[in-house]
Amino acid sequence: MNISPLSRLLPEVTQFLNNNSFPGFVGGKDYPAATGELIATIDPGSGNKIADIHDLAAAEVDHAVDIANLAFPAWSTLSQADRGAVLLRLADAVEQRKPIIAQIEALEAGKIEAQAEGDVQNFVDTLRYFVQLAEGVETRTKLDVADHDAWTYKQPWGACAFIFPWNFPFLLIGWGISPALAAGNTVVIKPAEDTSLSAIYLAQLATEIGVPDGVINVVTGRGETAGAALTNNTEIKRMSFTGSPEVGQLVAAACGRNLVPVKLELGGKGAAVVFDDVDVADTAEKLVGAITFHTGQVCCDATRWMIHSDIYDEFLEHCKDRLEQVRIGHPLDPSSEMGPVVNAKQCDRVLGYQEKGQAAGAECLFGGGRATVEGFEGHYVKPALLAGSLDNVAAREEIFGPVAYLAKFETEEEAIEMANDTNYGLANSVWTDDADRAARVAEAMVAGNSWINAHNVFAHGVPYGGVNKSGLGGGVLSIETLLDYYRSTSVVRPLT
Ligand code: NAD
Repeated sequence: MNISPLSRLLPEVTQFLNNNSFPGFVGGKDYPAATGELIATIDPGSGNKIADIHDLAAAEVDHAVDIANLAFPAWSTLSQADRGAVLLRLADAVEQRKPIIAQIEALEAGKIEAQAEGDVQNFVDTLRYFVQLAEGVETRTKLDVADHDAWTYKQPWGACAFIFPWNFPFLLIGWGISPALAAGNTVVIKPAEDTSLSAIYLAQLATEIGVPDGVINVVTGRGETAGAALTNNTEIKRMSFTGSPEVGQLVAAACGRNLVPVKLELGGKGAAVVFDDVDVADTAEKLVGAITFHTGQVCCDATRWMIHSDIYDEFLEHCKDRLEQVRIGHPLDPSSEMGPVVNAKQCDRVLGYQEKGQAAGAECLFGGGRATVEGFEGHYVKPALLAGSLDNVAAREEIFGPVAYLAKFETEEEAIEMANDTNYGLANSVWTDDADRAARVAEAMVAGNSWINAHNVFAHGVPYGGVNKSGLGGGVLSIETLLDYYRSTSVVRPLT
């Protein structure tokens, strides 16, 4: 690509970025940091700064929670139909601006533009899904008990807090806040330092189309200050955190101290178990697609591949052939298949695990190291395949890059044991033509999600969440998630 990616930017995106410095957005207006402290937002595809965001202090985050709580009574007492209408207007507005939001996301997260468009559409679909689901929620449920007139009454909680990572900034906001808003809660969003722009765009848009002030608030800033302030705040009614297990533990501890209900969606080290009856080329193509999708920065990715020994060599050859062809490039270059990783730290992490893994005895079967993209100084890495003992650090820890670790198995029992030999428990997949075996293995793998003959499968209505080191306290995308955002009161009158 000879032209600069910025030359492809839509005028609306250029105009948005011309603001240069982005405060948070609270109570329907800009919410600057009194200190004037800023954090740079970098395009990881070029290494160039595209904007600054404000680094809010703890007291400013606390005040944002107060504003969200003040907006709660009016928002929660709107009729479900009226609230739903506002949220559907927001869904329509986001959909109309899909190309704009996708370019903002491509620029700040290093996400291939077409994939970013898919994420924005997913936000829209998620919001519509929860609005529709909330319409069907029975807030008063009569209980059939002897000698008592009794019912339960569901109502929203108040201001709910959300802390998000940088890998799916806009999509995860949709997964997080849609059920909360549809149930009648107000929200305070803390996006990741690297990827706050799409959240700010959303909050501004929400105000523009008539979402009442204080219903959707965005606090920008560092995790250790702004994020920690949100988790330590005693006036939030629920906390939802998506990110690393290490920070998840801090968030859970803070919420535990305040007895605030908390939901954690954390990292993973998913397995793909491939039996010898599959279409080998097709399965290789799909698993390569899984690790190169968003440059492997996907929590539920399949990064440990257990391959039946009879097809191992053939499978490996197909993977190598396909990986050779992956076009690495700037996210706004339409010919790119795989973009950069999000920042220099993440680049070091991915390369560091490759080095540590090989130093500990892993064999590099393909690729690895830095990639160069002509004309750009971005954070590009080559996809890599490693193999060896499953005790290797690269097989046990989450790398969060385009790296898979391969191992051979002979029997179904052995494959299940290998897949379950991890502290994580987010998502695994089993690949076979035998439907009974697929169901057996899918149910035997310890994780929140088991997929059959596919990886990264999300459908509204299917709960998605993790167990063990991958999550705690719920999931997303289903009726259970919506019900989390109502508190329940039992009302009882003795009849005798
Ligand atoms: P991270 O844990 O470093 O940061 C996530 C968020 O937490 C950011 O907004 C950050 O500012 C904030 N934060 C950092 N320190 C904090 C603190 N002390 N208190 C409160 N907030 C703090 O994670 P990351 O590097 O942004 O994202 C990658 C991780 O997220 C990976 O482990 C990945 O697997 C996980 N993830 C999980 C899911 C899921 O659905 N299970 C989805 C996406 C990403």
